Amino acid sequence: MASRIPLVAGNWKMHKTIPEALEFCEAFVEQMPSPPAGVEVAVCPPFPALHPVAQRLRRTKYWVAAQAVHESLSGAHTGEVSAPMIGAAGATGTLVGHSERRAAGETDTQVAERVKAATDADLRVIMCVGESLEVREAGETDGWLTAQVTSGLALLDHAREQQVTIAYEPIWAIGTGVVATPDQAQEACAHVRLVASNFVDGARLRVLYGGSVSPDNAGELMALPDVDGALVGGASLDPDKFARIVEAAT
Ligand code: PEP
Repeated sequence: MASRIPLVAGNWKMHKTIPEALEFCEAFVEQMPSPPAGVEVAVCPPFPALHPVAQRLRRTKYWVAAQAVHESLSGAHTGEVSAPMIGAAGATGTLVGHSERRAAGETDTQVAERVKAATDADLRVIMCVGESLEVREAGETDGWLTAQVTSGLALLDHAREQQVTIAYEPIWAIGTGVVATPDQAQEACAHVRLVASNFVDGARLRVLYGGSVSPDNAGELMALPDVDGALVGGASLDPDKFARIVEAAT
C-alpha cells in the first residue's frame, strides 16, 4: 500500500447542471481547499459541466474526469465524445466501462478500445468492473472479474500502464445502499489485482471499491489491504459527504 496513493473519485452520473456543478465546487473547495496529503481526488461531471468544472478547479490539485469516452478520435458518432475532446476540455481522465454504460450497450471490446484510446491520448482511466447479484450467487464472481479485467486491459500499451486505475464495483451495490462486506471487497479487489498483474505492475496498480460508499463505511473499506480508494456515486453529489469520504482515505 505504501507505494499506492489512494484515489477518491466522485461520479456525478447524470446530475448537476453547470451552475449546480460550480456551486458544488465552491462549497467543496471552501471545505477542503486541496486534497489531504497523500490522497488524490477526482470528480467526474456530466459532459456539459466538464469544461466549467475543469476551469474552476484548474488551480487546485483536484483532477477532473469524464464519465465515458468513445474509441474513435473523431467521426460520424452522434452523441459521442472523443478522448482528445475530453483533454481539450481540461479534463485529465475518464471513467471507462461503468456498469451503467455496459448495461446501455458498451461491450467488452469497446471497453478495451476505449481504455486504449483514452490512455493513448494521455488521459488517466478508471476502468470499472463488477459482477451482478446473479453472478455472485452462482459463485462465478472470480471468473467474471477475470474476464472483464483481461478483456479490458488487452489493448493497453505497456508504456501507459500507470495511467490506469481499476474500480471494482459490484452491480448489486451500486446505488442500492447495500455495500459489499469488507471480506467481499477485499477478496474481489485482490482478485482484480492478481488478474491485472498479467498486464500491469500489480503492486503499483490502484484498485478502488465502488458501491454505496458513504462517510460511514468509507474508512473501513479503504483501509483494506487491496482497496486503494473509492469510486463514489450518490454520496459524491454532496460536498460535505464527499469531503468526509475523502478524509476517510487519509
Ligand atoms: C457509481 O456510480 O459508480 C457508484 C458506486 O454509485 P453509488 O456510490 O451511488 O453506489
